[in-house]
Amino acid sequence: MPVNILVSACLLGTPCRYDGGQKQNDAVCTLVHDPRVKLIPICPEQSGGLPTPREPSERRGIRVYSRTGEDVTAQFELGAAKALETAKRYGCKYALLKERSPSCGKGEIYDGSFSGKLTAGDGVTAGLLLKNGIKVFGESELDKLLSAIGLI
Ligand code: SF4
Repeated sequence: MPVNILVSACLLGTPCRYDGGQKQNDAVCTLVHDPRVKLIPICPEQSGGLPTPREPSERRGIRVYSRTGEDVTAQFELGAAKALETAKRYGCKYALLKERSPSCGKGEIYDGSFSGKLTAGDGVTAGLLLKNGIKVFGESELDKLLSAIGLI
């Protein structure tokens, strides 16, 4: 049976980023053809109801604001809840998510000043998945993920 892995859709080339672009990661994309895994794409910002393109947003404490100051916490939390629901539906114990995103980032995110500065913390979705026991890896940790699953 393949191992189901939740994946940020932008890493697979889906143009779902705030600017209408994508962040295709070739190493992540090779997993699409690996019969040992099944990738389950998510984009919490889209599934939380935000349009694409959209204003960039950053976390400030437990809230999330767009660059012009709109409070988009509710949309980010809805997207996170839907990602968790998807993870549960597919029995995903692992997630491979886009680093530094206010939704998908794990361990390090932008600091809320929209100046490109990073701070310690998790995106809203990454945080909720971690809280629920799902092991989250960033795209630069692909080898760590494959090793955790026992594939390398
Ligand atoms: Fe990618 Fe996650 Fe941002 Fe969607 S919310 S564009 S999946 S980083």
